[in-house]
Amino acid sequence: MDAKDMGADLEKVLLTEEQISTRLSEMAAQIDADYAGRKLLLVGVLRGAVMVMADLARKLHSPLEMDWMAVSSYGSGTRSSGVVRILKDLDSDLDGRHVLIVEDIIDSGLTLSWLLANLRSRGPASVEIATLLRKPEAAKVEVDVRYVGFDIPPEFVVGYGLDYAEDYRHLPFVGTLAPHVYGG
Ligand code: 5GP
Ligand code: MG
Ligand code: MG
Repeated sequence: MDAKDMGADLEKVLLTEEQISTRLSEMAAQIDADYAGRKLLLVGVLRGAVMVMADLARKLHSPLEMDWMAVSSYGSGTRSSGVVRILKDLDSDLDGRHVLIVEDIIDSGLTLSWLLANLRSRGPASVEIATLLRKPEAAKVEVDVRYVGFDIPPEFVVGYGLDYAEDYRHLPFVGTLAPHVYGG
């Protein structure tokens, strides 16, 4: 599928399926080297991280388990506030585990910084973050993100797990929407 399949909704493809796959392979190799055979607990943040989780996990050689969390952050409009509520908690006990949070995108970083503190309070051996995408705002927040796929411009992107009003998550690439889709 390419941008043409989405008709007039897509403005441009920012990252192709192939670019994403290549970068995830590099990240997986780095993660495997860093953890040196230690067992990982991948924690995917629903729902956006589903694609990244599925593809990254299949590229890792480290032994691993996968678990999921769903959180909602209260904010005004499109800005997240950093006030977070857990909608679905992990099923796993984190005591002594090597936790790797898997994210789709970091924008303000507020949700993630809350999540990091929350998971760290549960007694894990380590907690690190892997995100496919990072926007410039994220650099201003004190969140140490160990693995970053791509630094992207401050544009609203969809596809590869990312939605606009729950649409477009299934696209195999990351793209930007035409302004008319969101009333521009
Ligand atoms: P923040 O880092 O601002 O606390 O929140 C990150 C969350 O905001 C992401 O997990 C995602 O749900 C949403 N988000 C931020 N930027 C974008 C974007 O460009 N496109 C989409 N679809 N969601 C975004
Ligand atoms: Mg996310
Ligand atoms: Mg969303």
